[in-house]
Amino acid sequence: MEGGAPQEFEVAIERAIAAPEAFGASFDEAPSRSELELGAGLEGDPAIAFRRTLGMFATGVTVLTARVAEQVHGMTANAFMSVSLQPPLVLISIDRRARMGALLHEGTRFGVSVLEAHQTGLSDRFAGRVAEDVPEPGFEVVHETPLVEGALAHLVARVVRSYWGGDHSLFLGQVEFARYGDGRPLLFHGGRYERLTEDPQVFSLLPRELLDPILALGEKRDYADGEAIMRIGEKGSELLLVLEGTVCVERPGRTITLGPGELIGEIEVLDPAGGRIADIHAVGRVRSLAVSREALLGALEADPRAAIALIELLAARFRETA
Ligand code: FAD
Repeated sequence: MEGGAPQEFEVAIERAIAAPEAFGASFDEAPSRSELELGAGLEGDPAIAFRRTLGMFATGVTVLTARVAEQVHGMTANAFMSVSLQPPLVLISIDRRARMGALLHEGTRFGVSVLEAHQTGLSDRFAGRVAEDVPEPGFEVVHETPLVEGALAHLVARVVRSYWGGDHSLFLGQVEFARYGDGRPLLFHGGRYERLTEDPQVFSLLPRELLDPILALGEKRDYADGEAIMRIGEKGSELLLVLEGTVCVERPGRTITLGPGELIGEIEVLDPAGGRIADIHAVGRVRSLAVSREALLGALEADPRAAIALIELLAARFRETA
């Protein structure tokens, strides 16, 4: 969303910062001070120890947005939580020094864009950090509220209460709009970004021109409804491409289904000694192509470009978690 008068925007923000009470930021009485006791083994600055303790709580990452004088203001926040389903309520916690806090008061709307795993650049950008090679963020307006394009989930809420939260302000929002898409969330834990690695993809990420010659070496294999395709712990030395039908993948704590065009056994075929990491069975009749580890290694030897691309993919994965 572009346009609007930047000066008007700056003036609105500065006025709000200078006189927050005029913008409805009324707070309950503050509780009396008390000392923070640190557990055994934790020494040094209690504030740092407290911060690190809180950092053990893994969260997602959102960009909060508000509209001021036809301009958009965004801010990265992980202090976002669901509060109530009926009525639908969420809570955000904003540093009292942040410009965003000064823009919110009872009755105003704010947007919550839940970032997707690859949107670390956007998170840095809206946290005021240096973010290189990040394209200019795009906004979509819903309920007169800007939302960051490409995020995993979006909410629009209207502030119904604000509370004293020490050096932060708490804003309770009644949700007016909610939507989510497919994908994985960006996570924040221990002061750094993390990603879920539940469904590790390796070969699926190769460009088609490198993957297709490998899959062409596969042998056709059919499975009847309910038939086991792979069992957890079993030695696995094949990569399987689903051609037709549905496959159910059961990992401890999580079950997903895969369909035509999706690959099974991407990690195990590279590390067969580790054993299968899921129970997998056919749902209805399934047609597939099985590429043996020998055939796969032969293909990688024949075309080192695919091997190099795989090494780069694996290196990128390590970098993400390093
Ligand atoms: P600014 O610092 O002025 O703006 C933030 C940044 O967003 C600036 O770089 C600005 O250029 C950019 N920006 C704003 N609007 C636009 C736009 N329309 N287009 C392009 N760029 C724009 N702080 C909290 O108070 N609560 C939290 O829960 C919280 N969680 C965080 C979680 C993470 C993972 C990180 C990295 C930071 C978090 N912060 C949190 C810190 C917070 O994001 C920063 O302090 C932020 O700079 C405060 O923003 P501000 O409203 O003061 O505005």
